[in-house]
Amino acid sequence: PNIQYEQLRRKILNGVQEMWYFVSGELKKLQKQALALSPQLATRITRVLEEGVVHKRSLITDMDTLSEVDGYAAWREKEASDLSNLVQRRLDYLQNPEDCGTARKLVCNLNKGCGYGCQLHHLVYCFTVAYGTERTLILKSRGWRYRKAGWEEVFLPVSRTCTDPSGQTHSHWPGRKDTQVVELPIVDSLSPRPPYLPLAVPKDLAPRLARLHGDPIVWWIGQFLKFLLRPQEATSNMIQEASIKRDFKRPVVGVHIRRTDKVGTEAAFHPLEEYMAAVDEYYNLLEMKQKVDRRRVYLASDDPKVIAEARRKYPEYDIVADPDVAKTAAVSTRYSDSSLNGIILDIHFLSLSDYLVCTFSSQVCRVAYEIMQTLYPDAARRFRSLDDVYYYGGQSSHIQVAVLPHHARDMNEMNLEQGDLIGIAGNHWDGYSKGKNLRTNQIGLYPSFKAQDRIETADFPTYPQVPL
Ligand code: GDP
Repeated sequence: PNIQYEQLRRKILNGVQEMWYFVSGELKKLQKQALALSPQLATRITRVLEEGVVHKRSLITDMDTLSEVDGYAAWREKEASDLSNLVQRRLDYLQNPEDCGTARKLVCNLNKGCGYGCQLHHLVYCFTVAYGTERTLILKSRGWRYRKAGWEEVFLPVSRTCTDPSGQTHSHWPGRKDTQVVELPIVDSLSPRPPYLPLAVPKDLAPRLARLHGDPIVWWIGQFLKFLLRPQEATSNMIQEASIKRDFKRPVVGVHIRRTDKVGTEAAFHPLEEYMAAVDEYYNLLEMKQKVDRRRVYLASDDPKVIAEARRKYPEYDIVADPDVAKTAAVSTRYSDSSLNGIILDIHFLSLSDYLVCTFSSQVCRVAYEIMQTLYPDAARRFRSLDDVYYYGGQSSHIQVAVLPHHARDMNEMNLEQGDLIGIAGNHWDGYSKGKNLRTNQIGLYPSFKAQDRIETADFPTYPQVPL
Protein backbone atom coordinates (compact mmCIF):
# COMPACT_ATOMS: atom_id res chain seq x y z
CA PRO A 1 0.00 0.00 0.00
CA ASN A 2 1.20 3.53 -0.48
CA ILE A 3 1.81 5.58 2.62
CA GLN A 4 -0.98 8.05 1.83
CA TYR A 5 -3.52 5.26 1.88
CA GLU A 6 -2.38 3.87 5.22
CA GLN A 7 -2.19 7.31 6.83
CA LEU A 8 -5.56 8.34 5.45
CA ARG A 9 -7.18 5.18 6.77
CA ARG A 10 -5.85 5.92 10.25
CA LYS A 11 -6.77 9.60 9.98
CA ILE A 12 -10.39 8.76 9.16
CA LEU A 13 -10.62 6.37 12.11
CA ASN A 14 -9.21 9.02 14.37
CA GLY A 15 -11.50 11.64 12.89
CA VAL A 16 -14.61 9.55 13.50
CA GLN A 17 -13.57 9.02 17.11
CA GLU A 18 -12.80 12.71 17.65
CA MET A 19 -16.05 13.78 16.01
CA TRP A 20 -17.98 11.60 18.40
CA TYR A 21 -16.07 12.92 21.41
CA PHE A 22 -17.06 16.39 20.25
CA VAL A 23 -20.69 15.76 19.35
CA SER A 24 -21.47 13.59 22.37
CA GLY A 25 -19.67 15.97 24.72
CA GLU A 26 -21.61 18.97 23.44
CA LEU A 27 -24.93 17.13 23.43
CA LYS A 28 -24.45 16.04 27.02
CA LYS A 29 -23.91 19.65 28.01
CA LEU A 30 -27.04 20.70 26.14
CA GLN A 31 -28.95 17.87 27.73
CA LYS A 32 -28.13 19.18 31.20
CA GLN A 33 -29.52 22.59 30.28
CA ALA A 34 -32.55 21.05 28.60
CA LEU A 35 -33.47 19.05 31.67
CA ALA A 36 -34.28 22.27 33.52
CA LEU A 37 -36.23 23.80 30.64
CA SER A 38 -37.98 21.08 28.73
CA PRO A 39 -38.12 17.37 29.52
CA GLN A 40 -39.23 16.66 25.93
CA LEU A 41 -36.14 18.34 24.55
CA ALA A 42 -33.94 16.39 26.98
CA THR A 43 -35.53 13.14 25.84
CA ARG A 44 -34.98 14.11 22.24
CA ILE A 45 -31.29 14.73 22.93
CA THR A 46 -31.02 11.36 24.63
CA ARG A 47 -32.37 9.76 21.47
CA VAL A 48 -29.85 11.58 19.30
CA LEU A 49 -27.05 10.40 21.61
CA GLU A 50 -28.31 6.82 21.49
CA GLU A 51 -28.61 6.70 17.71
CA GLY A 52 -25.47 8.75 17.19
CA VAL A 53 -23.24 6.36 19.06
CA VAL A 54 -24.51 3.45 16.96
CA HIS A 55 -23.71 5.49 13.88
CA LYS A 56 -20.19 6.06 15.18
CA ARG A 57 -19.67 2.36 15.94
CA SER A 58 -20.87 1.46 12.49
CA LEU A 59 -18.35 3.80 10.86
CA ILE A 60 -15.47 2.49 12.96
CA THR A 61 -16.45 -1.10 12.25
CA ASP A 62 -16.55 -0.35 8.51
CA MET A 63 -13.11 1.23 8.64
CA ASP A 64 -11.75 -1.76 10.54
CA THR A 65 -13.31 -4.09 7.99
CA LEU A 66 -11.79 -2.05 5.20
CA SER A 67 -8.34 -2.82 6.57
CA GLU A 68 -9.20 -6.51 6.53
CA VAL A 69 -10.46 -6.59 2.94
CA ASP A 70 -8.18 -4.08 1.21
CA GLY A 71 -5.65 -6.80 0.48
CA TYR A 72 -2.88 -5.36 2.65
CA ALA A 73 -3.43 -7.28 5.88
CA ALA A 74 -0.77 -9.88 5.04
CA TRP A 75 1.64 -7.13 4.05
CA ARG A 76 1.12 -5.39 7.41
CA GLU A 77 1.84 -8.59 9.29
CA LYS A 78 5.00 -9.25 7.31
CA GLU A 79 6.26 -5.69 7.45
CA ALA A 80 5.76 -5.57 11.23
CA SER A 81 7.61 -8.81 11.68
CA ASP A 82 10.44 -7.80 9.30
CA LEU A 83 10.91 -4.48 11.06
CA SER A 84 10.87 -6.05 14.48
CA ASN A 85 13.37 -8.72 13.44
CA LEU A 86 15.66 -6.07 12.07
CA VAL A 87 15.63 -4.05 15.29
CA GLN A 88 16.00 -7.15 17.46
CA ARG A 89 19.02 -8.29 15.42
CA ARG A 90 20.59 -4.86 15.70
CA LEU A 91 20.11 -4.91 19.47
CA ASP A 92 21.60 -8.38 19.64
CA TYR A 93 24.57 -7.21 17.59
CA LEU A 94 25.04 -4.12 19.77
CA GLN A 95 24.79 -6.11 22.99
CA ASN A 96 27.15 -8.92 22.03
CA PRO A 97 30.41 -7.41 20.83
CA GLU A 98 33.17 -9.78 19.74
CA ASP A 99 35.65 -8.36 22.24
CA CYS A 100 34.18 -7.02 25.47
CA GLY A 101 37.69 -5.92 26.50
CA THR A 102 37.75 -3.21 23.86
CA ALA A 103 34.02 -2.63 23.34
CA ARG A 104 32.62 0.85 23.91
CA LYS A 105 30.15 0.73 26.79
CA LEU A 106 27.33 2.71 28.32
CA VAL A 107 26.74 1.98 32.00
CA CYS A 108 23.22 2.29 33.38
CA ASN A 109 22.16 1.82 36.98
CA LEU A 110 18.70 0.29 37.27
CA ASN A 111 18.13 1.66 40.74
CA LYS A 112 16.33 4.87 39.93
CA GLY A 113 14.33 5.76 43.05
CA CYS A 114 10.90 4.98 41.65
CA GLY A 115 8.45 2.21 40.80
CA TYR A 116 8.81 -0.75 38.44
CA GLY A 117 7.23 0.95 35.43
CA CYS A 118 9.37 4.01 35.98
CA GLN A 119 12.52 1.88 36.28
CA LEU A 120 11.68 0.03 33.06
CA HIS A 121 11.33 3.36 31.32
CA HIS A 122 14.65 4.46 32.79
CA LEU A 123 16.24 1.29 31.45
CA VAL A 124 14.72 1.77 27.99
CA TYR A 125 15.99 5.35 27.96
CA CYS A 126 19.51 4.02 28.69
CA PHE A 127 19.11 1.47 25.92
CA THR A 128 17.98 4.02 23.32
CA VAL A 129 21.03 6.14 24.13
CA ALA A 130 23.21 3.01 23.90
CA TYR A 131 21.73 2.30 20.47
CA GLY A 132 22.20 5.94 19.46
CA THR A 133 25.85 6.02 20.53
CA GLU A 134 26.66 2.44 19.41
CA ARG A 135 27.72 1.53 22.91
CA THR A 136 26.99 -1.81 24.52
CA LEU A 137 24.56 -1.31 27.39
CA ILE A 138 25.99 -2.50 30.71
CA LEU A 139 23.28 -2.87 33.31
CA LYS A 140 24.06 -2.46 37.01
CA SER A 141 21.26 -3.98 39.02
CA ARG A 142 22.79 -5.51 42.16
CA GLY A 143 20.66 -4.50 45.12
CA TRP A 144 17.68 -3.73 42.87
CA ARG A 145 14.78 -2.75 45.12
CA TYR A 146 12.52 -5.32 43.42
CA ARG A 147 15.10 -8.17 43.51
CA LYS A 148 18.28 -7.90 45.53
CA ALA A 149 20.23 -10.40 43.42
CA GLY A 150 19.60 -8.29 40.35
CA TRP A 151 17.80 -8.13 37.03
CA GLU A 152 19.37 -11.34 35.69
CA GLU A 153 17.54 -13.49 38.18
CA VAL A 154 14.24 -12.44 36.62
CA PHE A 155 14.99 -11.63 32.98
CA LEU A 156 17.72 -12.77 30.62
CA PRO A 157 20.90 -10.72 30.92
CA VAL A 158 21.05 -7.82 28.48
CA SER A 159 24.20 -9.41 27.00
CA ARG A 160 25.57 -12.93 26.55
CA THR A 161 29.15 -11.80 26.01
CA CYS A 162 29.68 -8.49 27.73
CA THR A 163 28.53 -7.55 31.22
CA ASP A 164 31.77 -6.21 32.68
CA PRO A 165 31.68 -2.44 33.28
CA SER A 166 35.47 -2.03 33.28
CA GLY A 167 37.54 -0.44 30.53
CA GLN A 168 40.62 1.60 29.64
CA THR A 169 39.01 5.01 29.96
CA HIS A 170 35.99 6.15 31.97
CA SER A 171 33.84 9.23 31.94
CA HIS A 172 30.49 10.59 32.95
CA TRP A 173 28.09 11.45 30.15
CA PRO A 174 28.78 12.51 27.45
CA GLY A 175 32.49 11.51 27.41
CA ARG A 176 34.30 11.49 24.10
CA LYS A 177 33.75 9.28 21.12
CA ASP A 178 36.81 7.19 22.10
CA THR A 179 36.08 7.04 25.84
CA GLN A 180 35.57 3.35 26.43
CA VAL A 181 33.14 3.46 29.35
CA VAL A 182 30.54 6.19 29.78
CA GLU A 183 28.19 6.41 32.77
CA LEU A 184 24.70 7.64 31.98
CA PRO A 185 22.77 9.64 34.61
CA ILE A 186 18.98 9.56 34.94
CA VAL A 187 17.25 11.53 32.19
CA ASP A 188 16.19 14.25 34.63
CA SER A 189 19.82 15.35 35.02
CA LEU A 190 21.07 14.53 31.54
CA SER A 191 23.23 17.21 29.96
CA PRO A 192 23.82 17.68 27.12
CA ARG A 193 20.74 15.98 25.75
CA PRO A 194 21.46 13.79 22.73
CA PRO A 195 19.04 13.78 19.77
CA TYR A 196 18.19 10.10 20.38
CA LEU A 197 15.71 10.70 23.18
CA PRO A 198 12.00 10.01 22.71
CA LEU A 199 9.91 10.96 20.89
CA ALA A 200 12.56 10.49 18.18
CA VAL A 201 12.66 7.34 16.07
CA PRO A 202 15.61 6.45 13.81
CA LYS A 203 15.55 8.24 10.49
CA ASP A 204 16.45 5.07 8.58
CA LEU A 205 13.33 3.29 9.90
CA ALA A 206 10.98 6.27 9.93
CA PRO A 207 9.51 5.93 6.41
CA ARG A 208 8.61 2.30 7.04
CA LEU A 209 7.25 3.03 10.51
CA ALA A 210 5.22 6.01 9.31
CA ARG A 211 3.47 3.72 6.86
CA LEU A 212 2.99 0.77 9.19
CA HIS A 213 2.13 2.29 12.53
CA GLY A 214 -0.20 4.90 13.98
CA ASP A 215 2.32 6.03 16.61
CA PRO A 216 5.87 5.04 15.65
CA ILE A 217 7.48 6.09 18.93
CA VAL A 218 5.36 3.65 20.91
CA TRP A 219 6.37 0.88 18.51
CA TRP A 220 10.03 1.87 18.91
CA ILE A 221 9.88 1.81 22.72
CA GLY A 222 8.08 -1.52 22.54
CA GLN A 223 11.01 -3.04 20.66
CA PHE A 224 13.39 -2.28 23.53
CA LEU A 225 10.97 -3.80 26.02
CA LYS A 226 10.68 -6.87 23.80
CA PHE A 227 14.43 -7.36 24.02
CA LEU A 228 14.71 -6.53 27.72
CA LEU A 229 11.77 -8.51 29.07
CA ARG A 230 12.78 -11.95 27.78
CA PRO A 231 11.98 -13.96 30.90
CA GLN A 232 14.20 -16.38 32.78
CA GLU A 233 12.74 -19.85 33.01
CA ALA A 234 11.41 -19.34 36.55
CA THR A 235 9.69 -16.12 35.46
CA SER A 236 8.25 -17.83 32.41
CA ASN A 237 6.85 -20.63 34.59
CA MET A 238 5.41 -18.16 37.03
CA ILE A 239 3.58 -16.42 34.16
CA GLN A 240 2.33 -19.74 32.74
CA GLU A 241 0.95 -20.83 36.10
CA ALA A 242 -0.81 -17.54 36.67
CA SER A 243 -2.42 -17.68 33.19
CA ILE A 244 -3.94 -21.02 34.06
CA LYS A 245 -4.87 -20.13 37.62
CA ARG A 246 -6.54 -16.88 36.63
CA ASP A 247 -8.10 -18.51 33.57
CA PHE A 248 -6.94 -15.66 31.33
CA LYS A 249 -9.07 -15.69 28.16
CA ARG A 250 -9.75 -13.35 25.29
CA PRO A 251 -11.49 -11.23 24.29
CA VAL A 252 -10.73 -9.23 27.39
CA VAL A 253 -10.32 -5.56 28.19
CA GLY A 254 -7.37 -4.68 30.39
CA VAL A 255 -8.25 -2.05 32.96
CA HIS A 256 -5.61 -0.44 35.12
CA ILE A 257 -6.79 1.72 38.00
CA ARG A 258 -3.98 3.57 39.70
CA ARG A 259 -4.92 4.90 43.10
CA THR A 260 -3.20 5.18 46.53
CA ASP A 261 -0.01 7.27 46.48
CA LYS A 262 -0.58 8.58 42.94
CA VAL A 263 -3.96 10.21 43.47
CA GLY A 264 -3.82 13.87 44.36
CA THR A 265 -0.05 13.98 43.88
CA GLU A 266 0.62 13.04 40.27
CA ALA A 267 -2.85 12.25 38.96
CA ALA A 268 -6.52 13.00 39.54
CA PHE A 269 -9.04 10.50 40.89
CA HIS A 270 -11.28 8.79 38.34
CA PRO A 271 -14.26 6.75 39.55
CA LEU A 272 -14.62 3.13 38.50
CA GLU A 273 -17.72 4.05 36.47
CA GLU A 274 -15.61 6.13 34.10
CA TYR A 275 -13.34 3.17 33.32
CA MET A 276 -16.31 0.82 32.93
CA ALA A 277 -18.10 3.17 30.54
CA ALA A 278 -15.08 2.89 28.24
CA VAL A 279 -15.05 -0.90 28.65
CA ASP A 280 -18.75 -1.05 27.72
CA GLU A 281 -18.16 1.04 24.66
CA TYR A 282 -15.36 -1.28 23.55
CA TYR A 283 -17.65 -4.29 23.82
CA ASN A 284 -20.57 -2.50 22.16
CA LEU A 285 -18.28 -1.86 19.23
CA LEU A 286 -16.94 -5.40 19.18
CA GLU A 287 -20.48 -6.80 19.19
CA MET A 288 -21.15 -5.10 15.87
CA LYS A 289 -18.72 -7.60 14.37
CA GLN A 290 -18.83 -10.68 16.55
CA LYS A 291 -20.77 -12.37 19.28
CA VAL A 292 -19.28 -11.86 22.72
CA ASP A 293 -20.04 -14.70 25.13
CA ARG A 294 -18.95 -12.93 28.31
CA ARG A 295 -17.70 -9.43 28.86
CA ARG A 296 -14.35 -10.01 30.50
CA VAL A 297 -12.16 -7.50 32.26
CA TYR A 298 -8.63 -8.02 33.47
CA LEU A 299 -8.51 -5.58 36.36
CA ALA A 300 -5.16 -4.45 37.72
CA SER A 301 -4.90 -1.98 40.53
CA ASP A 302 -2.69 -1.03 43.41
CA ASP A 303 -5.88 -0.71 45.46
CA PRO A 304 -7.60 -4.03 46.33
CA LYS A 305 -10.77 -2.14 47.31
CA VAL A 306 -11.46 -1.18 43.71
CA ILE A 307 -11.42 -4.83 42.65
CA ALA A 308 -14.02 -5.69 45.28
CA GLU A 309 -16.04 -2.66 44.19
CA ALA A 310 -15.96 -3.79 40.55
CA ARG A 311 -17.19 -7.28 41.41
CA ARG A 312 -19.98 -5.85 43.52
CA LYS A 313 -21.15 -3.24 41.01
CA TYR A 314 -20.65 -5.20 37.78
CA PRO A 315 -21.83 -8.77 38.42
CA GLU A 316 -22.60 -9.20 34.69
CA TYR A 317 -18.85 -9.00 33.97
CA ASP A 318 -16.18 -11.63 34.48
CA ILE A 319 -13.59 -9.74 36.46
CA VAL A 320 -10.19 -11.36 36.53
CA ALA A 321 -7.62 -10.00 38.93
CA ASP A 322 -4.58 -10.92 40.97
CA PRO A 323 -5.98 -13.02 43.84
CA ASP A 324 -3.13 -11.85 46.09
CA VAL A 325 -3.38 -8.19 45.21
CA ALA A 326 -3.79 -7.14 48.83
CA LYS A 327 -0.35 -8.59 49.52
CA THR A 328 1.48 -7.85 46.26
CA ALA A 329 0.37 -4.24 45.92
CA ALA A 330 0.37 -3.20 49.60
CA VAL A 331 1.58 0.37 49.90
CA SER A 332 3.90 -0.51 52.79
CA THR A 333 5.89 -3.07 50.77
CA ARG A 334 5.10 -1.59 47.37
CA TYR A 335 8.55 -0.94 46.03
CA SER A 336 10.19 -4.18 47.12
CA ASP A 337 10.76 -7.90 46.42
CA SER A 338 7.35 -9.03 47.57
CA SER A 339 5.62 -6.93 44.93
CA LEU A 340 7.68 -7.85 41.87
CA ASN A 341 5.75 -10.90 40.65
CA GLY A 342 2.47 -9.06 41.13
CA ILE A 343 3.44 -6.15 38.94
CA ILE A 344 5.14 -8.33 36.30
CA LEU A 345 1.95 -10.36 35.99
CA ASP A 346 -0.39 -7.39 35.92
CA ILE A 347 1.62 -5.70 33.18
CA HIS A 348 1.82 -8.99 31.27
CA PHE A 349 -1.94 -9.56 31.28
CA LEU A 350 -2.73 -5.92 30.56
CA SER A 351 -0.46 -6.04 27.52
CA LEU A 352 -2.13 -9.26 26.29
CA SER A 353 -5.57 -7.70 26.51
CA ASP A 354 -7.45 -6.66 23.37
CA TYR A 355 -7.86 -3.11 24.58
CA LEU A 356 -6.58 -1.00 27.47
CA VAL A 357 -8.56 1.37 29.65
CA CYS A 358 -6.43 3.31 32.09
CA THR A 359 -4.73 6.59 32.88
CA PHE A 360 -1.59 7.19 30.81
CA SER A 361 -0.29 9.27 33.72
CA SER A 362 0.68 5.86 35.14
CA GLN A 363 3.85 4.23 33.86
CA VAL A 364 2.31 0.83 34.55
CA CYS A 365 -0.28 1.33 31.84
CA ARG A 366 2.11 3.00 29.43
CA VAL A 367 4.48 0.03 29.69
CA ALA A 368 1.59 -2.37 29.01
CA TYR A 369 0.61 -0.28 25.97
CA GLU A 370 4.18 -0.29 24.69
CA ILE A 371 4.49 -4.07 25.02
CA MET A 372 1.12 -4.44 23.31
CA GLN A 373 2.67 -2.90 20.18
CA THR A 374 4.94 -5.93 19.83
CA LEU A 375 1.88 -8.18 19.46
CA TYR A 376 0.11 -6.51 16.51
CA PRO A 377 1.25 -4.72 13.36
CA ASP A 378 -0.35 -1.56 14.77
CA ALA A 379 -2.00 -1.42 18.18
CA ALA A 380 -1.84 2.36 18.46
CA ARG A 381 -5.63 2.70 18.77
CA ARG A 382 -6.15 -0.08 21.30
CA PHE A 383 -6.44 2.16 24.32
CA ARG A 384 -8.58 4.68 26.10
CA SER A 385 -6.70 6.90 28.51
CA LEU A 386 -8.81 8.85 30.97
CA ASP A 387 -6.15 11.50 31.33
CA ASP A 388 -2.92 12.07 29.39
CA VAL A 389 -2.04 11.41 25.79
CA TYR A 390 0.86 8.99 25.42
CA TYR A 391 4.18 10.42 26.54
CA TYR A 392 7.62 9.28 27.57
CA GLY A 393 9.16 10.69 30.76
CA GLY A 394 11.95 13.12 29.90
CA GLN A 395 10.83 13.34 26.28
CA SER A 396 11.62 16.30 24.08
CA SER A 397 8.53 18.27 23.08
CA HIS A 398 5.48 16.63 21.54
CA ILE A 399 4.68 18.54 18.37
CA GLN A 400 1.53 18.50 16.28
CA VAL A 401 1.00 20.09 12.88
CA ALA A 402 -2.22 21.92 12.05
CA VAL A 403 -3.82 20.28 9.02
CA LEU A 404 -6.77 22.70 8.94
CA PRO A 405 -7.13 26.35 9.95
CA HIS A 406 -9.10 27.31 13.03
CA HIS A 407 -10.67 30.57 14.14
CA ALA A 408 -10.99 30.87 17.89
CA ARG A 409 -14.62 31.23 18.89
CA ASP A 410 -13.94 32.33 22.45
CA MET A 411 -11.16 33.30 24.86
CA ASN A 412 -10.25 29.70 25.61
CA GLU A 413 -9.57 28.75 22.01
CA MET A 414 -6.67 29.68 19.76
CA ASN A 415 -6.22 30.39 16.08
CA LEU A 416 -4.52 27.98 13.74
CA GLU A 417 -3.23 28.33 10.23
CA GLN A 418 -2.59 25.23 8.23
CA GLY A 419 1.00 24.12 8.87
CA ASP A 420 1.31 25.77 12.30
CA LEU A 421 3.29 23.76 14.81
CA ILE A 422 1.63 23.17 18.15
CA GLY A 423 3.22 21.92 21.36
CA ILE A 424 0.40 19.70 22.58
CA ALA A 425 -0.22 19.65 26.34
CA GLY A 426 -3.13 17.22 26.31
CA ASN A 427 -6.27 15.95 24.66
CA HIS A 428 -9.42 16.61 26.66
CA TRP A 429 -11.21 13.75 24.87
CA ASP A 430 -14.18 16.04 24.26
CA GLY A 431 -13.18 17.08 20.75
CA TYR A 432 -10.59 19.57 21.93
CA SER A 433 -6.90 19.48 22.71
CA LYS A 434 -4.87 22.08 24.52
CA GLY A 435 -1.52 23.35 23.38
CA LYS A 436 0.70 26.23 22.44
CA ASN A 437 0.85 27.56 18.91
CA LEU A 438 4.58 27.89 18.31
CA ARG A 439 4.07 30.53 15.61
CA THR A 440 1.94 32.89 17.71
CA ASN A 441 2.86 31.69 21.21
CA GLN A 442 -0.86 31.60 21.91
CA ILE A 443 -1.93 28.96 24.44
CA GLY A 444 -5.41 27.53 24.13
CA LEU A 445 -7.86 24.91 22.96
CA TYR A 446 -8.20 23.73 19.38
CA PRO A 447 -10.31 21.01 17.74
CA SER A 448 -8.24 17.84 17.99
CA PHE A 449 -9.03 16.73 14.45
CA LYS A 450 -7.44 19.87 13.01
CA ALA A 451 -3.94 18.76 14.03
CA GLN A 452 -1.84 15.64 13.66
CA ASP A 453 1.26 14.33 15.40
CA ARG A 454 4.53 15.13 13.71
CA ILE A 455 6.77 12.06 13.61
CA GLU A 456 10.10 13.00 15.21
CA THR A 457 13.23 11.49 13.75
CA ALA A 458 16.93 11.57 14.60
CA ASP A 459 20.09 10.40 12.87
CA PHE A 460 20.69 7.19 14.76
CA PRO A 461 23.45 4.87 13.56
CA THR A 462 22.17 2.54 10.84
CA TYR A 463 24.03 -0.64 11.78
CA PRO A 464 25.16 -1.58 8.26
CA GLN A 465 26.90 -4.64 9.80
CA VAL A 466 23.47 -6.14 10.42
CA PRO A 467 21.91 -7.36 7.15
CA LEU A 468 18.50 -5.86 6.29
P1 GDP B 1 3.27 4.98 38.35
O1 GDP B 1 3.68 5.49 39.69
O2 GDP B 1 1.85 4.52 38.32
O3 GDP B 1 3.59 5.92 37.23
O4 GDP B 1 4.08 3.63 38.03
P2 GDP B 1 5.39 2.98 38.67
O5 GDP B 1 5.48 1.61 38.12
O6 GDP B 1 6.56 3.85 38.46
O7 GDP B 1 5.13 2.87 40.23
C1 GDP B 1 3.96 2.35 40.75
C2 GDP B 1 4.20 1.05 41.49
O8 GDP B 1 3.02 0.78 42.26
C3 GDP B 1 4.38 -0.12 40.60
O9 GDP B 1 5.68 -0.32 40.16
C4 GDP B 1 3.87 -1.26 41.47
O10 GDP B 1 4.86 -1.62 42.42
C5 GDP B 1 2.69 -0.59 42.17
N1 GDP B 1 1.48 -0.73 41.33
C6 GDP B 1 0.82 0.24 40.65
N2 GDP B 1 -0.22 -0.26 39.97
C7 GDP B 1 -0.23 -1.58 40.19
C8 GDP B 1 -1.05 -2.66 39.75
O11 GDP B 1 -2.00 -2.51 38.99
N3 GDP B 1 -0.71 -3.91 40.18
C9 GDP B 1 0.35 -4.13 41.02
N4 GDP B 1 0.61 -5.39 41.39
N5 GDP B 1 1.13 -3.15 41.47
C10 GDP B 1 0.87 -1.88 41.06
